[in-house]
Amino acid sequence: MQDFLKLFGNKSIRIKVIIIYILSLAFIGVIGYSYYIYSSIKSINREVSIYKDRLITTKKHTITNMVNVAINSINTFYENYKDGEISEAKAKKESIKLIHSMRYNLDNNQSNYIWINTVDGTMVVDPPKPDLNGKNVWDFKDKNGVQPFKEMANIVKSKGSGFVNYCWPKLGMPEDICYPKTSYVRLFYPWQWIVGSGFYIDDVNKDIENYIQRRKSDMIYTVILSIIFGAGASFISGIIFFFVLSIMVSNIKKIANLSKKLVSEEITNELKLPYSAEDELGCLVKNFNNFIDENYKLNLFKKTIEEDRDVEAVYKRIETLLKNEFDIKEFSIYEVNNSKSSLKPVVSSDVKMFCRQDILVDSSLCRAARTAMDINSFEEEDVCLSFLYNKDKNHICIPMMVGGGVGGVAQVIFDKNQTYKDIKNKIKRLKRFLKEASPVIEAKRLLGQLRESIMRDPLTGFYNRRFLDEFASTFAASVKRRQTHVGILMCDIDFFKQVNDVYGHNVGDEVLKGVVNAIAKAIREADIAVRFGGEEFLILLQDVDEKAALEISERIRENVEATEIFTAGNIIKKTISVGVSIFPNDSDNLWKCIKYSDVAMYKAKTGGRNRVVRFEPSMWESDEY
Ligand code: GH3
Ligand code: MG
Ligand code: MG
Repeated sequence: MQDFLKLFGNKSIRIKVIIIYILSLAFIGVIGYSYYIYSSIKSINREVSIYKDRLITTKKHTITNMVNVAINSINTFYENYKDGEISEAKAKKESIKLIHSMRYNLDNNQSNYIWINTVDGTMVVDPPKPDLNGKNVWDFKDKNGVQPFKEMANIVKSKGSGFVNYCWPKLGMPEDICYPKTSYVRLFYPWQWIVGSGFYIDDVNKDIENYIQRRKSDMIYTVILSIIFGAGASFISGIIFFFVLSIMVSNIKKIANLSKKLVSEEITNELKLPYSAEDELGCLVKNFNNFIDENYKLNLFKKTIEEDRDVEAVYKRIETLLKNEFDIKEFSIYEVNNSKSSLKPVVSSDVKMFCRQDILVDSSLCRAARTAMDINSFEEEDVCLSFLYNKDKNHICIPMMVGGGVGGVAQVIFDKNQTYKDIKNKIKRLKRFLKEASPVIEAKRLLGQLRESIMRDPLTGFYNRRFLDEFASTFAASVKRRQTHVGILMCDIDFFKQVNDVYGHNVGDEVLKGVVNAIAKAIREADIAVRFGGEEFLILLQDVDEKAALEISERIRENVEATEIFTAGNIIKKTISVGVSIFPNDSDNLWKCIKYSDVAMYKAKTGGRNRVVRFEPSMWESDEY
C-alpha cells in the first residue's frame, strides 16, 4: 500500500485519497456495469426464445380461432340452405362474400385474411389475389419445391385440420418474392372446402427483434440513467468526503506543524490541539496532547529545580511533586554519601523511618543503593529485609543515578490492597521526573560543597575571613532588624609560638585542632565560628545579652584549659585569652565591635592571659582600626 501511495509522489493526503476514491468508483463502475450488461444480455436471450415460442403459439391460436370462426359462419349459411331458406348457390356466395371481407389484426400493422380452396385444388376465394379465384392451384409449387395445396388436402383428409409450412408472397409486396408462412387449414366437409389462414414467420422475427430492441434500449437507458444519478451521488458524497477529509488533514497538518515546533521551540501548553473525537485521529491527538502535557510538566519541573537555590529546595519540590502530582501518601528520599557509604534522609512523608535505622550508617544495607536497580516488593515479596513494613505495605525503591553511581534513593510506599498494575504508569512517570532531577541534585550538591569549601578553613572547619567579609553586612543588618544582640568573642591561644618551636609545626597544627574542638563543643550550632588569624578565632554568639556572652566566654576558656590534646608522644594543654564586645551595644558598626573585642583580648594578654576581658570604652585609645 505504501508503495502504491508513493506513485502519487509528494502530493497531499487529500489529493491521494480523492484520486483513490475516483479510481475506486471507476473500478466499481466498470465491474458493476460489465456484469449488469453481461447478465442482461444473457437474460434477454433466454427471454427471447421463450417469447418466440409464446408468440408463435399465440399466433397459431389466433389463426386457428379465426378459421374456426369462419367455418362457423360458413356453417350458418349452410344451415340456412339446409333449412331451405336459401339456395345452395346463394349460401356458397354469401359465405364467399363474408370470407372475402373478413380481416383481423394479428400484428400491429398487419391485416390478416382467410382464404378458401377446394380439396382438389381450386381457389374459391383468395382475398388479396382475387384473380386466383376459380383457378386450379393444385400444382402450385413454392421456391423450396413445397406444394402447399396438396399438403393441405392431405392434412385435412387425414386429420380434418392442421398446420402447413410453405412459402407465399406477401400482401402489398412484389409477387415474385415469397416469405415463409405457417397456415392453419380445416375442412368444411359438406362443400369439401379447405378454409385457411396463416402468418408470416418473418413477422414473428420482426416482433422478436422489436422486443430485443426494446429490451436493449431499456438496458442502455437504465445504464445511462444510473451513471448520471451515480455520478451525481458520487459527486455529492465526494464533496462531503472531501470536507470531512479536509478536517482530518488539517488536524494532521496541525500535528505536523506542531511537531516541527517541538524541535525548535520550548514545549508549552499552548501547543495542545483541540480535536476531541474518539476516532484514530482523536487518539493520536490525545496522545500528542498527553505527550505535550507530560513534557511540559517535566520541562517546567526541571527548569524550576535548576533555578532553585540549593539542594534542600530541590528536595522540598520533589516532596511536593510526590504529594500533589503523584498523589503518593508515603515516601522518603535518601541521599547517598558514597565516600562514607552512608545514607542521609532528606525527604520523608513521615517522622518515622520505613527502613531499619542502620541503613543510614551502612548504605549497603539498602538494596537499591547497593544494586543500583529498582527494588519492587510488588514483583518480589520481602525483597529488601531492611524494609520494616513488609507485612502491611509494598515499597518501590528507585535509585537516582548520577555519574554512573547511585546518588540517592527514592522510596515510595503503597498499601497492600493496591496492585502493581494500578501504579505501574505512575512509577514510570515518577522515574522520568527523578531522572530529570538526579543530575540537578548532583550539580547542586557539588555546588554546595564547593561553596562550603570556599567559605571554610580546611584545617579547623571554621568559616574563613572571606566568609566573614561576605557575611558581615547582611548579618549586621539582620541583627539590627531583629533588635537582638550578638556577643563578639576574639580568642587567641596563649604562647602558641612555643608549641611550634618545641614540637614542630605539625604538632602545632594538631594542637590548633584540639583547641578548635574544645571551642566548638562550648558553643551552639547557631553560633558562628571564624578562623580570624593563624591561631585567632572570632566567635559570634547569636541572640545573647552581655551576661550570657561573658558566661559562654568563660565556659569556652575553661573548656580549652581543661582539654588535654593528644599528639604524637605528648599530651599538651593550652589556654586562651578572650576579648568580648557586644554588638550593637558597643558600636552599631560590626567591624568596630570586632576591633573592640580584639582590643579587649589584648588586655587579657597583658593582664596575664588565660582570661576573659569585657571591652570597655576606656581601652579604646585611637579611632583607627
Ligand atoms: P601570645 O599569643 O600568648 O602572645 O603568644 P603567641 O606565641 O601565641 O604569639 P602570637 O599569637 O603572636 O603567635 C602566633 C603564632 O602562631 C605564630 C605562628 O607561628 C603560629 N601559627 C599561626 N598559624 C599557625 C598554624 O596554622 N599552624 C601552626 N602550627 N602554627 C601557626
Ligand atoms: Mg596570635
Ligand atoms: Mg597567641
